[in-house]
Amino acid sequence: MLYEVRFRCNHVHTMDLTGQAEDRFRKIALYNQMFCPECRAQYAISHTRELPLFRAFVMPARQMQ
Ligand SMILES: [Zn+2]
Repeated sequence: MLYEVRFRCNHVHTMDLTGQAEDRFRKIALYNQMFCPECRAQYAISHTRELPLFRAFVMPARQMQ
């Protein structure tokens, strides 16, 4: 069943929720606390970009130990 779900980031996405009514409402409540898939993808991309920089700082320090 398709539901219009509002996420924590205030974006509304149509989600296909299945299962018992209780399970669907639990999922909606969970989605309300989560960032939407698009925002999570953006977050992952931005952190992937930072990773080489992160390695540049962390790797030499680890090699010194
Ligand atoms: Zn979002």
